[in-house]
Amino acid sequence: MQLLYVRYLAARPVDEIQCVARTRRRHRCTNTLLSPGALAGVWRLVPATETSGQLALPSAVMAVYDLSSVPYAEQLRWRAQRCLQHAAIPTVADLAVADWELFDPLRHREHIHNRLPAPTRRPDLAGRTHQAVRP
Ligand SMILES: [Zn+2]
Repeated sequence: MQLLYVRYLAARPVDEIQCVARTRRRHRCTNTLLSPGALAGVWRLVPATETSGQLALPSAVMAVYDLSSVPYAEQLRWRAQRCLQHAAIPTVADLAVADWELFDPLRHREHIHNRLPAPTRRPDLAGRTHQAVRP
């Protein structure tokens, strides 16, 4: 994933990344960052090189979920790993730590895919109702 000009490895698939905020019931919020009404990034193929440009991997390109085109505040929301509701309430504490990992093309080689993911529509995401979030 690319946000705020940095590539990160997410701990989960893009549509399963979970909000880290704590609900009033002291549980971790179960909302995902990607939700209906949220601006989405785009999958793009980018050069699979280190930022320094010194390392060229055999697979020349890699698929990245790119959030560069969404507004800065929205990228900050992703970086903070908060759902739409909790991004609006910064005073709510986090229950979990955002689990982004800086992407390293060598250490994370198995995550490099030189094709864009198939445009599958996950039925559970489309049909998912808004779980009540009452911070
Ligand atoms: Zn949340």
